[in-house]
Amino acid sequence: MPLTRQAPLWQQRLSQAVTDPCELLRLLALDPDLLPAAVLAARDFRLRVPRGYVARMRPGDPDDPLLRQVLPLAAELERLPGFVTDPVGDLAAMPGPPGLLHKYHGRVLLIATGACAIHCRYCFRRHFPYEDAQAASDDWQAALAHIAADPSIREVILSGGDPLALSDRRLSKLVGALDAIPHVERLRLHTRLPIVLPERIDDALLVWLSASRLHKIVVAHANHAQEIDDAVRVALRALADTGATLFNQSVLLRGVNDDVDTLADLSETLFAAGVLPYYLHRLDPVQGAGHFDVPDDEARSLMQALVARLPGYLMPRLVREIPGQAAKTAL
Ligand SMILES: *Cc1c(COP(=O)(O)O)cnc(C)c1O
Ligand code: SF4
Repeated sequence: MPLTRQAPLWQQRLSQAVTDPCELLRLLALDPDLLPAAVLAARDFRLRVPRGYVARMRPGDPDDPLLRQVLPLAAELERLPGFVTDPVGDLAAMPGPPGLLHKYHGRVLLIATGACAIHCRYCFRRHFPYEDAQAASDDWQAALAHIAADPSIREVILSGGDPLALSDRRLSKLVGALDAIPHVERLRLHTRLPIVLPERIDDALLVWLSASRLHKIVVAHANHAQEIDDAVRVALRALADTGATLFNQSVLLRGVNDDVDTLADLSETLFAAGVLPYYLHRLDPVQGAGHFDVPDDEARSLMQALVARLPGYLMPRLVREIPGQAAKTAL
């Protein structure tokens, strides 16, 4: 046996993600007529979807709620008023170390990487050149110095992109550095990987996560109960076993989860997997995602119907991000 070091399984699966629209249509036995638009729309923001996630889709159904989140469509090419390339606007506007957003009291958000395992068509990052900007840097010294110098910072949120797209070597180094800052008490991971690539939650990850002295919070991102299969449940359970508290944030998406049955089912399925609903985000008005939009009035009526269906602890908070506010804004 040669002594070459094998990439971990999750990295192999990550590199084997489907990126060719033609292949995706073929795997799902979908109408090849969908191809020209998919190819065009994928030029702006590339198709990327792990095979295990494709396996949770219903073959032959162009309206499958998982497929809708990843398949490039002609509708993305429409230009709609109010839908812009930088809807949140804070990355460029933030002073301070590159990749660090210190917007809310007591917590900072670190763009740990621009990479993602999946490309969600509604994501505002579809227009953001994370990969070549701050995020590509291996160098967190400036961000760590900012955190160390400000004792009001109790919580560090690793976000992205997807922070768990980073290697365990880099993550354990970063978390080790945070462990060493006495006023930091909580470590939060905003990650979609436990949902879209549950293989990521492997022994190597669990070792550094368990070793941290920080209180751990994992905020996953699932939008539909169909995303949660047995492999996802196992990954979530393993995260909980490190002592982490598990939450989920979703985005309210037309054609994916814009009805009360789907939202109720999502909350209950999450709870059964040990996860509490946290936020339900209104879509960021990002160019190319207008066809996912659910207007405020309709979003509010959905929440009214949902509150009549679910126990209070299974209600996500409907929020939107408004630049300049001290927190996410409830709707
Ligand atoms: C959303 C967000 C947070 C986290 O907000 P919570 O309400 O604590 O979940 C922190 N920093 C930034 C910049 C954010 O956008
Ligand atoms: S940042 Fe989150 S929502 Fe955006 S593409 Fe990556 S996984 Fe999807």
